[in-house]
Parts: sequence; C-alpha cells; structure tokens
Amino acid sequence: MSAIDELPPLRDVIRTHGLSALKSLGQNFLLDLNLTSRVARTAGALEEMTVFEVGPGPGGLTRALLALGAKRVVAVERDSRCIAALNEVAAHYPGRLEIIEGDALATDFAPLAAGGRACIVANLPYNIGTPLLVGWLSAEPWPPFYESLTLMFQREVAERIVATPGTDHYGRLAVLTGWRAVARIAFDVAPSAFVPPPKVTSSVVHIVPRPVPLACDRRTLERVTEAAFGQRRKMLRQSLKSLGIDALALLEAAGIEPTERAEQVPVEGFVALANALVTLRAGQAPRQSVSPASS
Ligand code: SAM
Repeated sequence: MSAIDELPPLRDVIRTHGLSALKSLGQNFLLDLNLTSRVARTAGALEEMTVFEVGPGPGGLTRALLALGAKRVVAVERDSRCIAALNEVAAHYPGRLEIIEGDALATDFAPLAAGGRACIVANLPYNIGTPLLVGWLSAEPWPPFYESLTLMFQREVAERIVATPGTDHYGRLAVLTGWRAVARIAFDVAPSAFVPPPKVTSSVVHIVPRPVPLACDRRTLERVTEAAFGQRRKMLRQSLKSLGIDALALLEAAGIEPTERAEQVPVEGFVALANALVTLRAGQAPRQSVSPASS
C-alpha cells in the first residue's frame, strides 16, 4: 500500500510485472508518489477534466492524477508490458481510467475529449517530447481541445520552450510557444528522482493556450522562423533571403530593422514578418487572366 492509495508501491509493481526500464522507449520512471502528486497538482483542478497522459509506464503519475480526483484519465502507452499493471490501476478506479496501447505520436487526442474539458499531463519520453509539443501547439482550430499542458522535459528543452528574446535558448520553439500560449517552468526534478536516473536535470513546464493569439498563418510563421533562426547569428536582411523574396522590402513592411538578428526579435515581430510575407507574396502572384464565359 502506498501513501496516496491502497495499491502496491511502484517498486513492487515494477518487480511483479517485470518492467525493467527500456532506453529505446525513454523509460525513466518516477517512483515517488509525492513527486507524481506534485506534477499532477501543477495541472490545477482535475475534477471536471479528461486528463490525457502520454506514457503512463507503471502508473505512478496516473495514480496521482486519479487520487487527486481527475474525472477521467486516458493514458496512451506504447510498451505492452505495462498494460497489465495499468489494468490493476483501472480496476481500483472503476470507470475512470482508459488505457490505449499505442503510439502517442499517432494518436489524435481531440476526438477522445468528446467536446468536454481536457488537459494533458505527462512525464514525456525524451525522444518524442518536442514533436508532441509542436503537434499540440499546432492544433487547428485554435483554441485547442486542451486547457493546459503540464509536461516533464529535459531542463534544456524546458528552457527553449520558455525562452525570451535576447537569450541563447530563444528560437523557433519559443516563438511558436509564445505566439500561441503562456509557458512557465513550474519546478525542476533532479536525476535521482527517476529510475534509472537520466544524465540531466528535468523540469516540469506548465503551458496555457492563449484564447486569441495574434492573427497569423501558422505555416508562414514557421517558414519565417525557420529562415531567421537557420542562420541565427546573421542579420535578418541576410538570413531572410532564403525565403526567396526581397528581404529588405519584407523587413520594411514588418517594421523591423534589417540589421537585427533573429534572437532579438520578439514574437510580435515574427508575426508581423509572417503577415508581411503573405501580403508581399500576394502582390507578386501573377494576375489571374479572366477568360470570357463560355457560351
Ligand atoms: N509516466 C511514467 C512515470 O512517470 O514513471 C513513465 C514515464 S517514462 C519517462 C516515458 C513513458 O512513455 C514510458 O512508459 C514509455 O514506454 C512511454 N512511451 C515511449 N514512447 C511512447 C510513444 N511513442 N507513445 C506512447 N508512450 C510512449
């Protein structure tokens, strides 16, 4: 029995079900239920929420979410060895835990929320953390199906998510995040908290979507940040040439100095660049010839 429920301690669960950690699946388990409860509390009130969890593993965070009152947890786990252990958690919380054996990268969470309130909470496998986040931040339509993301990343990735202009970590991920959401690092977690311990410190990041981000086409914004940060030490008048457009005209239209570098430009500046790019391209597009209506 553990401190938060009547289920066996996680070490016993791991031993009983033979869940030796696999590096290929990014398995670094949290066995301290006080810590998993802290992660779950960071997500806020859960009573009315469907909580999506990626990679429940032996179920430490899953149990914390359920013990804290989550209305429903939908957990997607790729490792079939974990399913029997998770079924025991589901039996302890009848009707509140759905387990999906599959790849989170290939899972469309939005329909599973069925229009109800939802959030995402996960101790993410490191190898797929950034693609999952980019996918959730790229959701259409916006605002998305989730009210918040509470996610464990390597500290270095967490710093790239919350970075502000003028700092070394500021780049494409910070612009996408800052455009669509407000993000903060809630707390750090030492390597010793995990089994097996990873090489680096981790951080829990809390992300809340902006209801109305600045108007902008997401793909164009991505194209602009890719060009700008692709040569981040160069001035924008140089780096934006890769867009195949008059970079000086683009910068002038966006109201940005040609001598600025990508890392100095705030999110609003990139939005202005994306919108100016759409306008300039529309001006360059060959006029459609109007053919007479066929009789
Ligand atoms: N939530 C557990 C915890 O906190 O102890 C385990 C976290 S562990 C860092 C990452 C988990 O994600 C593992 O259980 C792993 O099997 C699972 N996983 C890895 N790749 C996955 C994928 N593509 N889709 C779903 N789960 C995945």
